[in-house]
Amino acid sequence: LFSAIEMAPRDPILGITEAFNADKNPAKVNLGVGVYYDDNGKVPLLECVRKAEAQLMEKAAPRTYLPIDGLAAYDKAVQELVFGADSAVVQEKRAVTAQALGGTGALKLGADFLKRFSPNAQVWISDPSWENHRALFESAGFVVNTYPYYDASTRGVNFAGMLQALETMPAGSIVVLHACCHNPTGADLTEDQWTDVIRVVASRGLIPFLDMAYQGFGDGIDADGKVVRRFADAGGPLFVSNSFSKSFSLYGERVGALSIAAVSAEEAARVLSQLKRVIRTNYSNPPIHGGQVVATVLSTPELRQMWEEELAVMRVRIREMRQAMVQKLKEKAPGQNFDFVVRQRGMFSYSGLTKEQVQRLREEFSIYAIDTGRICVAALNSRNIDTVVGAIAKVL
Ligand code: PMP
Repeated sequence: LFSAIEMAPRDPILGITEAFNADKNPAKVNLGVGVYYDDNGKVPLLECVRKAEAQLMEKAAPRTYLPIDGLAAYDKAVQELVFGADSAVVQEKRAVTAQALGGTGALKLGADFLKRFSPNAQVWISDPSWENHRALFESAGFVVNTYPYYDASTRGVNFAGMLQALETMPAGSIVVLHACCHNPTGADLTEDQWTDVIRVVASRGLIPFLDMAYQGFGDGIDADGKVVRRFADAGGPLFVSNSFSKSFSLYGERVGALSIAAVSAEEAARVLSQLKRVIRTNYSNPPIHGGQVVATVLSTPELRQMWEEELAVMRVRIREMRQAMVQKLKEKAPGQNFDFVVRQRGMFSYSGLTKEQVQRLREEFSIYAIDTGRICVAALNSRNIDTVVGAIAKVL
């Protein structure tokens, strides 16, 4: 059986981390990661999480199975966070939310569900997109296409190209959209552009699948979630995957959710019953700890307040690093304009560095970025930024 099996290709991002770990240069910096680091270069343990965990330890509850769709208190809290507690979809019980194994697990549940009920549809992801989008939907059995998204010449979104692609997709096509903080480019749509996207998606009968892995890292929890509410208000089927990996710094606990908005409570009940079958035949039911932590924080007013403040600290620090990078590059590389870095949102920046420049950064300065020029702004801090900017100025 195994003798004919070929080695699978290495994960490109993991490869960078391995090379980084092996590098002996004490000034090395890893900008290839997809994780938020604080100014000390550490992954934070949020205080709200620590407090919630202390409460849970105190209760010392037995570890029974969760229901197939997860902890009810978690699903409710997440649904209200994603759609808004006073939204029509929530009030009219037209939304279903199932706890999932991170944002990846939520996407996989949605993909498997869609393959069951819309087997002939094709999937469209942005060009470029988070590299796992294609693999996830292909592994669920879909043909995956791309729609134009990033425009290297403006360092922004090729919106005309995107809209035109949406206007020519067959009805029923599944469109994966980044709700905020586009990974890998950092280039987001404006409110007016979303208005056009929502109109075309509705008029052509496309199925929107919003992926929200970074709520709170763009302009704020509500501001970032607004697009989800606007899609829900427009009616029609809607899929939303969300993740707390970054916003709660709970990467390894695998906490996320899939929410689906239907047109009626009766339809939603049927959808949930089928979604449970998808879950049951995948992993039966989700793990308990991360969901309990997030549910406790979201539903306890003082912990929730604390979370919002801690998330704001992360968001503001990333913004400050963007500003510092642009300012310092102005001094060190005067002919170059990096102002677009401040306009980008979220943890990542398509820096505009070429593959050759990225290679030089790695070989000459032990600074690790992705070959596409993607850097994780959240890996910059007050101690490494001068090194990084100095090296970038030299390779430009
Ligand atoms: N979607 C996007 C756009 C992402 O960048 C990521 C990972 N950071 C995910 C989904 C998956 O999130 P998780 O790590 O919670 O599985």
